[in-house]
Amino acid sequence: MNELLIKNGRIIDPANNVDAIGDILVCNGRIVQVGIVKDEAGTIIDAKDKLVVPGLIDMHVHLREPGDEEEETIASGSAAAVAGGFTSVVCMPNTEPAIDNEATVDFVYRQAAAVDLANVFPAGAITKNRAGKELAEMGQMVRGKVVAFTDDGNGVQNPVVMLKALQYAEMFGKPIMQHCQDDALAAGGCMNSGYQATVLGLPGMTRLAEELMLYRDLQLTRQTSTRLHVQHITTAGSTQIIRQAKQQGIRVTAEVAPHHLLLTDEACQDYDTNYKINPPLRSRSDVKALLEAVADGTIDCLASDHAPHLSSEKELEFLLAPCGIISLECALGLYVKALIEPSIIDWPRLIQLMTIGPAGILGLDKGTLAVGSAADITVIDPHHSWRVCVEKFRSKSRNCPYDGWQLSARAVLTVVGGKIKYQLSD
Ligand SMILES: [Zn+2]
Repeated sequence: MNELLIKNGRIIDPANNVDAIGDILVCNGRIVQVGIVKDEAGTIIDAKDKLVVPGLIDMHVHLREPGDEEEETIASGSAAAVAGGFTSVVCMPNTEPAIDNEATVDFVYRQAAAVDLANVFPAGAITKNRAGKELAEMGQMVRGKVVAFTDDGNGVQNPVVMLKALQYAEMFGKPIMQHCQDDALAAGGCMNSGYQATVLGLPGMTRLAEELMLYRDLQLTRQTSTRLHVQHITTAGSTQIIRQAKQQGIRVTAEVAPHHLLLTDEACQDYDTNYKINPPLRSRSDVKALLEAVADGTIDCLASDHAPHLSSEKELEFLLAPCGIISLECALGLYVKALIEPSIIDWPRLIQLMTIGPAGILGLDKGTLAVGSAADITVIDPHHSWRVCVEKFRSKSRNCPYDGWQLSARAVLTVVGGKIKYQLSD
């Protein structure tokens, strides 16, 4: 018997409408009791003044394996995930080669199992080699247990291909996740178009590039009964389009990334490439609209878009540097800064957006503390003041603009399948 008892914590389990002080008993990898536990066997964790929540889920991360193992691996990315309180992550298929076939899906699962830290769920590419031309072998990848399809990094430009993808996904019961961006409209841009881009003399990416594809995809989705998940939305217009689509009964869900909630295009003014991201940082009014969209339920989940890059690449000039920010190890604290400190949402809603929210979109049997479920549990100290130190990250990369930021909450214990995979030591 392998027992773990987490005692006296504030248990927040939005999937089961629980918010109460209590204990959780884990036995052989499963949650066996929630409430007041008399039994005191096995490992005992005192969670007094802490939050005990379902293991956090990040449905948008880049683990770079296969192909770019010097930037990140499934091992280093999984270590970063559990250090950030995430028990499950969904890795994007823009690897080299792309995750566009069953063998590569298998490879990801095997690597993740060997690493044995977080649950890693691969998303498969929509099109072969993410080229946007021809559908990938979606059926085979479903057999290999992909959880969703996306060409993330690129939006599917051709509406005929996109419609077909939605129709196939409907057959398989998997969501299509789209990086909404019209390539022709965004071409050549490296930051948000507008005043800041003009001042910096950099080519901009118009909001319309995101909004036009979003609008198109919603109309295509309306033709099917597939679920469309819109990745990392960034503009006030997108929030309005999604809000209306939901009112019309279109099956759409949306995510937002921490950088789009906390940073604006003004951050690019020193040409620091750690602020170069796709889709780009927008303006204050966009950030305000995104925060409102989180508050009113237009946004269904939070996702980091953890995107590691080599320092040598990020040191290129702004126009040439790759896009991406890493944040798995500080995302929770960033969401708290963006959403809880200014009282935009409360803890139960935040936990919902990071657990049952993404689990529901993906159809994963996760994000709950129900008795009988796999014991994926995160313990959070909601009053842990700490300074982000990128040098200490478990991620292999360092492209993080939050170095030195003071945050006020942190995961202190991460349990996956009943086993402690991370415990904060200081
Ligand atoms: Zn993307």
